Amino acid sequence: MKVRVDPERCEGHSRCHALAPELFALDDFGNAAAIGDGAVPPGLEEKARLAAANCPEYAVEIVEDAE
Ligand code: SF4
Repeated sequence: MKVRVDPERCEGHSRCHALAPELFALDDFGNAAAIGDGAVPPGLEEKARLAAANCPEYAVEIVEDAE
């Protein structure tokens, strides 16, 4: 699983970072980006989904691994 942040949509509410600081970094304006290549380490999948569900701008995208 990977997470992605759409920079066009992100308005910098930083909820994703508050919910999953392991997965999202903030820039000086509070806008978020996925850390590294966005890969979600084992055990953090629920946090990733929570962050996606709580982004008010629907900017967090979950990319499921291909089976
Ligand atoms: S919760 Fe959404 S809008 Fe807020 S910083 Fe994260 S991606 Fe951006």
